[in-house]
Amino acid sequence: MSPTNTDIDVLIVGAGPTGLALGVDLARRGVDALVVERTEGLFPGSRGKGIQPRTMEVFDDLGVLDAIRAAGGGYPVGMIWQDGKQVGEHQMFDPAEATEDSPYTEPWMVPQWRTQEILFARLTELGGKVAFGREVVGITQDEDGVTVGFAAGESVRARYVVAADGGRSAVRRGLGIGMTGVTVDPHPMLVADVRLTGLDRDHWHVFPPHGETDGFMAICPLAGTRDFQIAAQFPEGTAVDLSLDGIRKVVAARSHLDADAVTEVRWASDFRPRAALADRFRDGRVFLAGDAAHVHSPAGGQGLNTSVQDAYNLGWKLGAVLTGGAPTTLLDTYEEERRPIAADMLGLSTSVHRGETRRGEATRQLGLGYRESSLTEETRTAPGQVRAGDRAPDGTLGEVRLFDAFRGPHWTLVAVEVEVPEVPETVGVVRGRAQESYGSGLFLVRPDGYVGWAADRATGLMGYLGRFGLR
Ligand SMILES: Cc1cc2nc3c(=O)[nH]c(=O)nc-3n(C[C@H](O)[C@H](O)[C@H](O)COP(=O)(O)OP(=O)(O)OC[C@H]3O[C@@H](n4cnc5c(N)ncnc54)[C@H](O)[C@@H]3O)c2cc1C
Repeated sequence: MSPTNTDIDVLIVGAGPTGLALGVDLARRGVDALVVERTEGLFPGSRGKGIQPRTMEVFDDLGVLDAIRAAGGGYPVGMIWQDGKQVGEHQMFDPAEATEDSPYTEPWMVPQWRTQEILFARLTELGGKVAFGREVVGITQDEDGVTVGFAAGESVRARYVVAADGGRSAVRRGLGIGMTGVTVDPHPMLVADVRLTGLDRDHWHVFPPHGETDGFMAICPLAGTRDFQIAAQFPEGTAVDLSLDGIRKVVAARSHLDADAVTEVRWASDFRPRAALADRFRDGRVFLAGDAAHVHSPAGGQGLNTSVQDAYNLGWKLGAVLTGGAPTTLLDTYEEERRPIAADMLGLSTSVHRGETRRGEATRQLGLGYRESSLTEETRTAPGQVRAGDRAPDGTLGEVRLFDAFRGPHWTLVAVEVEVPEVPETVGVVRGRAQESYGSGLFLVRPDGYVGWAADRATGLMGYLGRFGLR
């Protein structure tokens, strides 16, 4: 389709993980949305390769979990090298056992380009579209909509725009929204996907620095591919050479491998880790999501994950307003809920980068929630372990697996040892006796898998549902 003079409900700027995840969520809700992407194809690099357990749950709901599992693998143990000898092993993550509540416990490695391919395939399957080669260069808005201008000179009018155009977001700048932050580390980093010989694929190979003049290098086999990801740190002020020759020199200088062990560079980039947060996540009809709203050090493996979860928080709200009769004020809760989470993530990523926090419980993102949100109502006299605002855990109730019941764009009422009231037919219902993590009561689970409302009895349920246009 040509976007010229076409009215679209939601224009998503950027086909990175954020834009694609939002595209999938809106497509399955029947929202008229289009993703526009500056480049001619999907991003080719591995950079955000760690998918956290909470994102695995989101991917389960979005219908891509099987493909993500098939495409990736667990993280290998770190192998520390010194002068050509293996001197020790390093466990990158605190181990965790899968439980009935939390079936995914460890990060799953999938190169970012593959995750994007999988999300793109799902988007296409659902009838969604990406228009490649469309660079957004201008944005203006009025009461009724947003006009977005492209580099080629055309423009499109949308009811809402989501800026998922990455850390340097042209949309954010165009709106004049500031981004406040600090450089986490002044040392430039190289990240490159290469083919190489001489290292096994069962370990993440770590080469500590020799002295003041170089930095560490880590070479990680990328699950599901024949590639390795090289990450290397350089002294402040170094102009990093991204060519095959440049990368060969780094590998030869910092490891026991010969330069020609590197046979091919498939993608390479350099960056200086920053932590920064947009001053606002919304301006009128435009929302910022993903790296456009927050950038982190990659050390904690949080960026892609937090970004996908921004999309997941915004998707159902846009869907409810555009197709479900919810009031537009619901959209105010996107910034209310996501900005504090992003602010906490910045602190966590910086702390992992500096070696002050291990990768473990906090980086899995299973404990995140919205207890303080204006959408959260908890009225039980003696709340149990799971409270309104918390992530709704998995488990079995009656004969039903809860994540099976939650999967899809709907709300779900979980009734434990309480009579089930009448609810609108679009709300799913699961009932049963004694559920360990939930305790007893009625739990209304939002489309994004958080408990919105919890009560001992049905009083107030219909009023709460009415806030979302559900009657
Ligand atoms: C070395 C490294 C390692 C990382 N490791 C991890 C990790 O293990 N786990 C993790 O969670 N995260 C990790 N990250 C972070 C992760 O890569 C990002 O957080 C993620 O890519 C953000 O997704 P996004 O869709 O918001 O932005 P992006 O991926 O940047 O996508 C933005 C898209 O918008 C397009 N675009 C830009 N401007 C325009 C425009 N004007 N018009 C139209 N399109 C436009 C771009 O071409 C791009 O396709 C890592 C990052 C780096 C650098």
